[in-house]
Amino acid sequence: MRTRLSICLRKIRYATQEEALQAALGAPFPLRPYLCDRCRCFHLTGRIKGKRMPRAWMLGGDGSDPKAGPKAD
Ligand SMILES: [Zn+2]
Repeated sequence: MRTRLSICLRKIRYATQEEALQAALGAPFPLRPYLCDRCRCFHLTGRIKGKRMPRAWMLGGDGSDPKAGPKAD
């Protein structure tokens, strides 16, 4: 899991996983600690399940036009 630097800077850093877990337990919603590869500290993430990939990239046209080249006899 690659952590963005902007996200890293925005998030709270925990020196140990235990410290992050304690903070996660105190939150009103489920959080999961993970090791950040940017700062080598622990952050908390709220995304535990339901990985949804955006489909916007599928909507881009590739330039194919169905009405190409009318044949006239
Ligand atoms: Zn970080």
